[in-house]
Amino acid sequence: MYNKMSLREVNLKGERVFCRVDFNVPLDDDGNVSDDSRITAALKTIRYIIDQGGKLILASHLGRPQGKPDPKYSLAPVAAHLSGLLGKQVRLAPECIGPEVKKMVEDLGEGDVLLLENVRFHSEEEKNDHIFSRQLASLADIYVNDAFGAAHRAHASTEGVAHMLSPAVAGFLMEDEIRYLGKALTDPARPFVGVLGGAKAKDKIPVIHNLLKKVDALLIGGGMAYTFLKAKGQEVGRSLVQEDQLDLARRLLTEADSQGVDFLLPEDHVVAPSVESVTEFKICSNGDFPPTWMGLDIGPATVEKYTAVLNSAATVVWNGPMGVFENETFAKGTMAIAHALAASKAVTIIGGGDSMAAVKQAGLENRMTHISTGGGASLEFLEGKKLPGIQALNDKM
Ligand code: ADP
Ligand code: MG
Repeated sequence: MYNKMSLREVNLKGERVFCRVDFNVPLDDDGNVSDDSRITAALKTIRYIIDQGGKLILASHLGRPQGKPDPKYSLAPVAAHLSGLLGKQVRLAPECIGPEVKKMVEDLGEGDVLLLENVRFHSEEEKNDHIFSRQLASLADIYVNDAFGAAHRAHASTEGVAHMLSPAVAGFLMEDEIRYLGKALTDPARPFVGVLGGAKAKDKIPVIHNLLKKVDALLIGGGMAYTFLKAKGQEVGRSLVQEDQLDLARRLLTEADSQGVDFLLPEDHVVAPSVESVTEFKICSNGDFPPTWMGLDIGPATVEKYTAVLNSAATVVWNGPMGVFENETFAKGTMAIAHALAASKAVTIIGGGDSMAAVKQAGLENRMTHISTGGGASLEFLEGKKLPGIQALNDKM
């Protein structure tokens, strides 16, 4: 897939290192970091650059500040949090470009860390503006990209600047993401099983399309299963169905057939009158779907069947929960899949924000081989798209 130069191959001592990270973290009402997993995911790269004597300049976006400064989206809480994690001061620049920032970079000693203010305080960031990229590049000697979660966007700090600094290399998190996702797509241990769920068929159909060429079996659950079941002419009541995707769904079913892929759809369901329902629900099979209710989780027979397939898998890629797991009444299917993966000897790769949340909810995040940090980025990777933030990096020599 990609064979990109690694941070390990670069001499960092005394060099100014521009490192793009994904510090787009949630903040609580007091403005503190409420989940620091994205920060801790980049620590290996950050510590390495510090230990090697690099002068570290960190850049990230946070939220959607509409291309102008907005204190609500300042990276100040992140600078404070990172200082705590590293046990050393991380200074926050008031800006990400300009003379004041240049001065702060000049003052950096070996192993010092400067965090630039939110790159999205400039509309030029998302436009991948050439001049803005030049201004960012003028701060540093070397470019490191560890922001896998932003790698599907061709922005100034993720793509533009990579062409202006040499070398431009992958950080350790980026490297892990490329290694695990790339191996699954190019050279997976078999049987290779894909588990796909989540809300919208439209988002996941390109992933199914690409995975069909690679997997031995696909297990479908979640809201998107109902578009496929309806495409097969089944009663699905008021379940989530994307009418405009029915034709495409039918074509994928035919394609699965001709590729010899086991394309499994739920056989039974947890159905209820609404997503909020707590006590009113029941199990039904495909044949007796109540016309006024909706399917909100896979049922026990489906769980059993999917678990059996997962037990004999050697590689599993999972994207998208099997039901509305935010409501405990409809979480059993998703939790069962998480436990099946945790118990399995297979290489297990989780992609997608909600799937990651589900695995954490089950307390099983340490039992998976790899949990991707990029929601949209991992989806596009699994679709077989080239990610601009990765492509822009130097190839291994
Ligand atoms: P991910 O973030 O892992 O890629 P998605 O964002 O595609 O996953 O989907 C997650 C959402 O899908 C969850 O909010 C969940 O409630 C919803 N969902 C799952 N099953 C159903 C269903 N049967 N009906 C409606 N929504 C569902
Ligand atoms: Mg999601």
